[in-house]
Amino acid sequence: MIEVNRRLNKHLGTFDADAMETRSPEDILTWAVKNYHPRLVLSASFGAPEGMVLLDMMHRIEPESRVFVLDTGRLHGATHDLIDRIRDRYDKRIEVIFPRAQDVEQMVREKGMNHFYETLENRRLCCRIRKVEPMQRYLRDFDAYVTGLRRDQSVTRRDTPKIELDVGNGGLVKINPIADWTHERVMEYVGEQRVPINRLHSKGYPSVGCEPCTRAIGLGDDPRAGRWWWENEDTRECGLHPSDEQSGGLGI
Ligand code: SF4
Repeated sequence: MIEVNRRLNKHLGTFDADAMETRSPEDILTWAVKNYHPRLVLSASFGAPEGMVLLDMMHRIEPESRVFVLDTGRLHGATHDLIDRIRDRYDKRIEVIFPRAQDVEQMVREKGMNHFYETLENRRLCCRIRKVEPMQRYLRDFDAYVTGLRRDQSVTRRDTPKIELDVGNGGLVKINPIADWTHERVMEYVGEQRVPINRLHSKGYPSVGCEPCTRAIGLGDDPRAGRWWWENEDTRECGLHPSDEQSGGLGI
């Protein structure tokens, strides 16, 4: 951990990770753009308002700022619609990344189309092939990336720092500018700036992932309750953002 922090502080120059904790998202993004653009990219699912808020903020700071989305091949139509709405609204090229066709073909040939419901191992295999591998492959060309992770989204995210070193992705700087924001603060920004968001949010989906692995939730349910609802709460991550300790089973 000391080695990770030493390498991180070397990246951060005159700032250190602790000092970043007290800075606003706009300050952090301005610093990130200045230091890393164009080798900086926003990772957005287009299935959560957090990513759209950060896209809006980054676009104001640098209109050429980059954004990518993983198209797993199992996304909702509403998510594809939002990708095009964002493209039109900001006149922005969205970098859509797909899994390797041969990996998906082999997986469904051997296990079937919806094997992820059967075991945790199958579910993690599907997320690894459709999400983790494409993201790792894509991020090789970058020095830093931005995410919309927030600490109160789930038990697996409660220790998320604003800046960290992503050891699993070759030591990239991972920037989580709104880690300390609440859902209410996110929606306030969406309203104030009229940021386009996924239309399924108004139909009971606080977070929209792949169509077969997301369902609407009821009033008072945990916001992540509709994701991989058949699993225990402590395994409900796709492998893109687990801490080092949690990532063992995914090999990242
Ligand atoms: S969320 Fe479901 S469909 Fe999407 S990659 Fe993971 S297991 Fe596969």
